[in-house]
Amino acid sequence: MDKQYDIIIIGGRVAGASLAMRLGQQNRKVLLIERITFPSWPSVPSSPIVHPGTMRLLSELGFAEEEYTYAEGKADHVIMDMMGKFQAVMPMAMMDLDRNYIYGIDRNKFDTVLWRRAASCPTVSAYENFAMTDVLKDAAGRVTGIVGRTGDRTEEVIQADLVVGADGRFSLAARKFGAEPFEELNDYPSASYHAEWEGVAEYSKACPHPLVIYQLGGGYSLLCIPIDKQKYIIANYLRTGDTHFGGKKLEEHYVQALQSVPRLREQLKNARRVTPVVGVRRIDNGYRQAYGQGWALVGDAFHYESPLDGQGIYNALLASKFLAEAIEQWKNGQPWEEAGKEYQQRFYDSSHDMLKQTVARVQQELYTSPPPFVVNTLMRWVLTDPRFQKKFLLYLSRAIDPNTFTFGPSLGPVARGFLRDVFRTGRRQPAFE
Ligand SMILES: Cc1cc2nc3c(=O)[nH]c(=O)nc-3n(C[C@H](O)[C@H](O)[C@H](O)COP(=O)(O)OP(=O)(O)OC[C@H]3O[C@@H](n4cnc5c(N)ncnc54)[C@H](O)[C@@H]3O)c2cc1C
Repeated sequence: MDKQYDIIIIGGRVAGASLAMRLGQQNRKVLLIERITFPSWPSVPSSPIVHPGTMRLLSELGFAEEEYTYAEGKADHVIMDMMGKFQAVMPMAMMDLDRNYIYGIDRNKFDTVLWRRAASCPTVSAYENFAMTDVLKDAAGRVTGIVGRTGDRTEEVIQADLVVGADGRFSLAARKFGAEPFEELNDYPSASYHAEWEGVAEYSKACPHPLVIYQLGGGYSLLCIPIDKQKYIIANYLRTGDTHFGGKKLEEHYVQALQSVPRLREQLKNARRVTPVVGVRRIDNGYRQAYGQGWALVGDAFHYESPLDGQGIYNALLASKFLAEAIEQWKNGQPWEEAGKEYQQRFYDSSHDMLKQTVARVQQELYTSPPPFVVNTLMRWVLTDPRFQKKFLLYLSRAIDPNTFTFGPSLGPVARGFLRDVFRTGRRQPAFE
């Protein structure tokens, strides 16, 4: 291993690997390190969906969809089942984008594909099973390199012009750099647990593998994400305060939640869980300072948020794109203080409205319990309104300004729903029995 690089990147998943690829395209001499070896599951707790915005960023990096997905992970319908009272069926074709579908992805495959592509860049040296344990600083406090440890516990000291922490939401790099959160939106903390299942029966003949959101009420929801043939990730979302499970074990509580939905129970009749139940008990929402003397943060290390809207991978890819552009500016003569500041602000401006909406959705979905009367009227009118559905799907796909979308009851969908009920007119929802 060389002892001097332009940039060292700590962490080799979405943010780190994509940044290495972009810096490789700029011919920078990059060291990319990752403490685990690929393929690896489930060291990253994620119940992952990639939406059209994410796929666009992956296309920019030269990936074809088939490289990181499986054919039967493709979902062209989102179905929201409201406490068994009604189904809102949302065909993604109504978005009218280049891609009118999402994919559930197998992170094992996805992260491995990204890592291998980054490692194949001629100017990138990629080392797995190699963990950063400390950072080097000069007398003025500027970060100048890292101390790392290989699997056989050999210690290495490596220098760089810039050290980037792409090491996830619990970032050790952030602590070593002294990066503090500068904004947090944590009034509604949430938790999420998930596992992979095989042998899951089709949802229906007409719509074999949609993405299904089951709103269970009382602060619980389930997300069923197809990732491959008869293979699903099923995630449970709940309030952090409800994670003591009334004395039950996590797995027992998780399975009980799945079994409480008759339709899902039927789908799981001959299915088996093939991974442990993993997740995060408290998912915070916020931003850390993303740059400083000799260092930067990217991906979840910089910005972390609830996975309810499935934006983490998109955000990590977007931030790494912006950071690569800031590094280019810096290498072309702009002072790092300025380039880093612009990077932080640019990403903040691109993500903050969405974050606020996601936090509002967490509040609404997990922290409010509407009475059955409201579910049967207001919520049904809104969620089955085609114009609302189109906006919701475009919002999740990052194809519209998040500020133009409201999840709660608003006049248009409510009035149209009311009139549909009164006159029994309008588009009938397809019934996927
Ligand atoms: C429960 C849950 C569900 C989610 N669902 C979705 C979803 O549906 N869609 C979506 O887009 N996003 C989702 N996310 C978010 C998504 O997983 C993250 O946003 C994304 O993985 C961030 O990528 P990253 O590269 O920044 O960090 P990570 O994926 O966390 O990768 C960090 C890497 O750094 C490595 N590392 C850490 N410390 C060191 C060290 N000292 N030395 C070397 N390497 C180190 C780790 O091993 C890890 O591989 C979810 C997250 C959670 C918690």
